[in-house]
Amino acid sequence: MERNRFVRVLREARQTGKAVAAINILNYNTGRAVVLAAHRANRPVILQPSVGTVRRYGVETVAGMAGILREMTNVLVVLHLDHCMDEELAFACIRAGWDSVMVDYSGEDFQDNVKRTRRAVEYAHSHGAAVEGEIGVISGVEDEIVREKGHPASLGETLRYLQETQVDAVAPAIGTAHGQYKELPRLNFGLVEQLKGYNVPIVVHGGTGLPETDFRRLIACGAAKINISTALKKVYLDSARSHLADAKIPPLEFDRRVEEACSEAMEKFIRLFANEDIRI
Ligand SMILES: [Zn+2]
Repeated sequence: MERNRFVRVLREARQTGKAVAAINILNYNTGRAVVLAAHRANRPVILQPSVGTVRRYGVETVAGMAGILREMTNVLVVLHLDHCMDEELAFACIRAGWDSVMVDYSGEDFQDNVKRTRRAVEYAHSHGAAVEGEIGVISGVEDEIVREKGHPASLGETLRYLQETQVDAVAPAIGTAHGQYKELPRLNFGLVEQLKGYNVPIVVHGGTGLPETDFRRLIACGAAKINISTALKKVYLDSARSHLADAKIPPLEFDRRVEEACSEAMEKFIRLFANEDIRI
């Protein structure tokens, strides 16, 4: 059996026609919320802190936290670093036993993107870790990466990128964006479908705000990993604000209620991506 958890859960997703939720946890509380949601849904899940979160708490602390959270459940809990342009940080995560990293050199020209991604793949594979790469440019704000204009990926370019980098998963720019949508994007379902025939899991970024029908169609076309970040941030802050209205709430009860709100919201995505009959 493949020992890398990232590769394992995405392979299983492809084989069963489902997708795995990859959620940008912010701290221990949201990490617990997501693992609890995965446990209740009986589905694997990917915890994918952003570079900002990892810089705040430290590579080893986050790895330790994921290890503790794994003990809460029998479902597979993957630890994956989201959008990293800092090679040293990505390599430090790999050395600390993270399952996988996403390296994002999509802001560079094709050859440089390939070269730097390939170097990360070689390093990761020699340590038993996996790599997700990005081709084309996904727009919006993700942590410290700000890209006003996206650039769609083409099939030819994506296939060359896959061939030359040997990444374990690829996020082609298909029209989704990071953050909140002002208007609904037109997605390139065709590219996802064309890539289905190639042996690589497809990742969808900018999941928050897409309608349920788009999620279902993306999964039917072969998307195996769908990222959720903004939705968790929103429920985390909204529920915190509403519970703080109770001036007498004890801190632990406050944490418990925020955790429960986050967990409920994330469980819906996890189940929806497993093709369950869920409304979001
Ligand atoms: Zn992203």
